[in-house]
Amino acid sequence: MTTPGISVLDGKYMVTMDLFPQQSKEFNQVHPFYAFLQEGRLCTTRCKDCGAEPFPPRVLCPDCYSTNMEWVDWPTTGTVIDFTEEVVGVPLGFGKAPLVHALVDLQGKKTFFVRIINCAAGELKPGDQVKLAVFDVDSVPQEVGRDVVEMQRVFYAFEPVK
Ligand SMILES: [Zn+2]
Repeated sequence: MTTPGISVLDGKYMVTMDLFPQQSKEFNQVHPFYAFLQEGRLCTTRCKDCGAEPFPPRVLCPDCYSTNMEWVDWPTTGTVIDFTEEVVGVPLGFGKAPLVHALVDLQGKKTFFVRIINCAAGELKPGDQVKLAVFDVDSVPQEVGRDVVEMQRVFYAFEPVK
């Protein structure tokens, strides 16, 4: 990761600017979520005691406080209900405008607000089909024994089905 215009920070990891979670098993109890993303799967946890399926995934059920959770797959396509487009003032770390977010109906499973990528301003409209899009984000250095290893990371958004 580099910070444009601040040469002293070239090659340094800027933890305070990091938008994305640590994803290794040493730092993150829901680390399988990211491994599933790398396989193109959108998964979450289901409570084996009450059936709740919170998203993002949890290790503790927010409804009944059980830790008896299992991983389940969710649909990877959905329908846009409505959306927002930021064309100026996109926050640092989100790349170039537009920054699009949409309320997506995930085949009746869940309705959630998610970022839409690979989509030009003015392109998206309600009723459009969108699909899961997994993308690489900056790796993070992590100590493994006496070595420092760059841990690869991914994150998810949705993109229009073309
Ligand atoms: Zn529960």
